[in-house]
Order: sequence, then structure tokens, then C-alpha cells
Amino acid sequence: AAPALSQIGLAGLAVMGQNLALNVAEKGFPISVFNRTASKVDETIDRARQEGNLPLFGYFTPKDFILSLQRPRSIIILVKAGAPVDQTITAMSPFMDIGDTIIDGGNEWYQNTERRIDQANSKGLLYLGMGVSGGEDGARHGPSLMPGGSYQAYSNVERILKKIAAQVDDGPCVTFVGEGGSGNFVKMVHNGIEYGDMQLISEAYDVLKHVGGLSNDELAKIFEEWNRSELESFLIEITADIFKVKDEFGEGELVDKILDKTGMKGTGKWTVQQAAELSVAAPTIAASLDCRYLSGLKEERELAAGALREAGMNDDVNAVRTGIDKKRLIDDVRQALYASKVCSYAQGMNLLRAKSVEKGWNLNLGELARIWKGGCIIRAVFLDRIKRAYQRNPGLSSLVVDPEFAREMVQRQAAWRRVVGLAISAGISTPGMCASLAYFDTYRRARLPANLVQAQRDYFGAHTYERTDRSGSFHTEWSKLA
Ligand code: NAP
Repeated sequence: AAPALSQIGLAGLAVMGQNLALNVAEKGFPISVFNRTASKVDETIDRARQEGNLPLFGYFTPKDFILSLQRPRSIIILVKAGAPVDQTITAMSPFMDIGDTIIDGGNEWYQNTERRIDQANSKGLLYLGMGVSGGEDGARHGPSLMPGGSYQAYSNVERILKKIAAQVDDGPCVTFVGEGGSGNFVKMVHNGIEYGDMQLISEAYDVLKHVGGLSNDELAKIFEEWNRSELESFLIEITADIFKVKDEFGEGELVDKILDKTGMKGTGKWTVQQAAELSVAAPTIAASLDCRYLSGLKEERELAAGALREAGMNDDVNAVRTGIDKKRLIDDVRQALYASKVCSYAQGMNLLRAKSVEKGWNLNLGELARIWKGGCIIRAVFLDRIKRAYQRNPGLSSLVVDPEFAREMVQRQAAWRRVVGLAISAGISTPGMCASLAYFDTYRRARLPANLVQAQRDYFGAHTYERTDRSGSFHTEWSKLA
């Protein structure tokens, strides 16, 4: 006899799709799966059997796959973003009926989702663009889900999404984000914030290693300790682990043998582009992107190191190291990392708000902080504090002026300045920490030297300026008066 109809379908059985499908099946929802290349269907069926005879059923044609689903049907697509998503929709939609739902779970550019929403609507289909974070493990055991698009579509799958998402103290890590491409946009900013976090952690490592002279063993212990502090988070936890892994091909730890060239897939770049488009300052996220670009210039950097050494550059950090109080340095770096991180999140949140205003998405920033508390790569204890900051004041102009965060920033600023100062004297670049500190110092100053920039603009371009003491727009013939 044919199996009973499945409650949901999933097409695209690479790392993410396979694990998410098993997660759905494990939560007791019979699921149908499909993949362009058949071997991945067999592989997934095998895993479902091995992982406890999970109710997962494989299909080898789009038609069989779609017809195996209960109506109204919902399918999740997890293929490579871009054209493969369009191709998958084209293959599936002829077999779908009015009221059925397509959910794209990939890291998709939000405007592609908005285009597909319109196309789906014209066929009577519903559409969701759903950010999925947490990598392989998250997909399998509980990701953070950021669905946006059709609310009706969300309602149709809400009970499944709530079961498969990561569970935290205040509920499952999923919420209806908003209309249009908002789910993808939020996931994109999540990734931008992730770039910032990783950059800041790598700078803390650099300072502790080169200024503090800490060994990998000591670093592992410090990060473990930090993971019991206000920094408690997934990225701090895995960093502690990384320092412990021995190199299987030789002496020492693997981390020291890894080529210092960062890869990337584009969501960080999109975040910075969007920040520029919306005139939102996101210097920490931008610095982390720039650092990935600079890291890619490995050969050039090696030549530069040589050329500058020949020109007399002395990059010996011993002078800075002497007299360093290691314990205090470690404590300072922890505080610098935290304060820098708060500024980075402030930038990401303000970018989300600006886009929300532009698009009318009505994003709930506190709720977004909540669904990032579990499952995703940036999950951290302090997201609960961010959630509460926005609950206290949904119109909060910046996280750094929330009374609780403001107090913490002030408490940490001396340590933060010491770390950045030390790093600068030692010639160790800390672009993320510096960008965060400059952001903080710029944002908190009631008066900036922008008066001079305005004067220059008016001098050479008659762009006019406003005055502090009277209203109106003014122009001065500067060259005649000088
Ligand atoms: P992926 O490597 O991005 O994509 C591979 C999948 O796409 C395979 O199932 C492949 O099918 C399918 N595919 C490629 N071109 C296709 C086409 N023209 N038509 C139909 N299917 C096509 O897979 P992934 O790493 O699992 O990621 C899936 C999505 O989730 C991506 O958008 C990714 O950015 C996002 N994501 C990934 C992670 C992660 O940790 N990997 C985390 C969050 C989000 P075949 O087997 O037939 O080649």
C-alpha cells in the first residue's frame, strides 16, 4: 500500500536539507524528500533508517514528490541560492495547487524572494523566504528560523517550525519575521553580525597571543572561563575547543597550521552594501569584511612585510610585552571584546530598523534577539539582555544608550581603551575593536568636527550650512573673507 500522505516536503538534500529533513521526521512529522541527484535521496533514506526508523519517504521525480503531500501542501527548498532555487520552483510548481506553499530555506538575496513571492502569488501559491541558521548541527537538532513572506503560509507550517526550531527558556527560536523578503534580510544581517563577532574574537586572540604571550593551552582555558562570563556564547565555546585540537601531521596544535586566508560566501558583503544604501553606519561589520579581503592577499602581505622590514620597520612586540601584567591584560581583553560586540550588535540592529522603516516590515527587534538566543551561530547569553532592552523601549535609538548597556559600556571603556592602545603601540591591527570604539566615541559626542566639513563643503561647492544659533540655511564667500 502507498504510504499515508506526508505533512511536509523538502527538496535539496545537501548538508542543510538532509539534516533539516531528519529533524522534521524525528519530531514526528512524516516528511517526503527529493533531490535533483538521486543518490542523495537514497543517502537520506538510509540515514532516516539508521537514526531510528524516522518517518521519511524518498521520491525521485518532482511529480511523485509533490503528490505525496497532504493539502494544502508545503515544501521547503534547500538548494544553492540563486538560479537553482528558480529551477527547483519551476520543476515543482506545475504539480502544486492554489493555496500550496513554497518555503526557501537558503541564504537568499531578499529581492529574489520578493520577486518569487510575486510569481508564486500569480499562480495562487504562497511563499516564505526563511533564514535558517546553525549550520549542520543546528539543522539536525534545532536551528534558529527566520521565516518571512506570507503570514498564511507561516500559519500552515507554524506547528512544525516551532517543534524543529531550537528551544530556549522563552520558547522556540522561530517567529514570523514580517512580509516580503524580511526573513532573508534578517538572516543576512545575522550573518553580518556573525562576521563581526568572529573578527572581534580573532583580534582578542591576536592580542592575547602576541602581546600577552599566551600559549594555545592558556588560550583554551581563558576562552572556557570567558564562556562562563557575560561573553558566554557558541562562538566563544567553539573557540576554546579549537585551541585544544592537536595537529595530526606534526607537533603542536592544528590552529597554528591553518593558512590565514578567510573564505566567504557573500552575506557579509550584502550586509555592508545594505548599510551603505540605507546610510546606516556599520563600521565593525565593515571592518570584519575588509579584514577578510585583506586576509585573502596572503602573498601581497608577505611581500609587504618584507618590504617594510627592509625599510626599517621593527615589528618586535617585545618592547610592549615587557612589564605586561598578564592577568590584567586578559581581564581587559574580555571587557574590550564585550564592549566591541555590543557596538557591533547596535549597528546590526539599527540596520534592521532602517530597512524595516523603508519596507514597512514592522520588525520586532526584541523578538529577533530572542530567536537568536538558541540554534544559530551568534547564539549568546547576552541576546537575552538585548531582547529586554528592546522590550523596555521598542524605539531605542541605539543599544549603547539603553540604561543597562550604557552602564556596562562605561564600566568597560577604560579596559577597552587600554587594549586598543596597547595593540596600536604593538602594531597589532584590531580593526574591529577600533571601529567599535570609534563608533562609540563618535555616537556619544554631542559635538563632532562635522562643522569643519560643512564649512569646507560650503567653501568649494556652495553646499550651504546650518548654524547652531539661528535657523535657516547659510552660504559664505569664504575666499573673499579669509
Ligand atoms: P549547497 O551546497 O548550497 O547546495 C547543494 C544543493 O543544491 C544540492 O542538493 C544540489 O543538488 C542542489 N542544487 C544545486 N544546483 C541545483 C539546480 N540547478 N537544480 C536543483 N538543485 C540544485 O547546500 P547546503 O550547504 O546544504 O546549503 C543550502 C542552502 O542553505 C544554501 O542557500 C546555503 O547558503 C544555506 N545555508 C547553508 C548553511 C551551511 O552551514 N551549509 C547554513 C545556513 C544556510 P545536487 O545534489 O543534485 O547537486
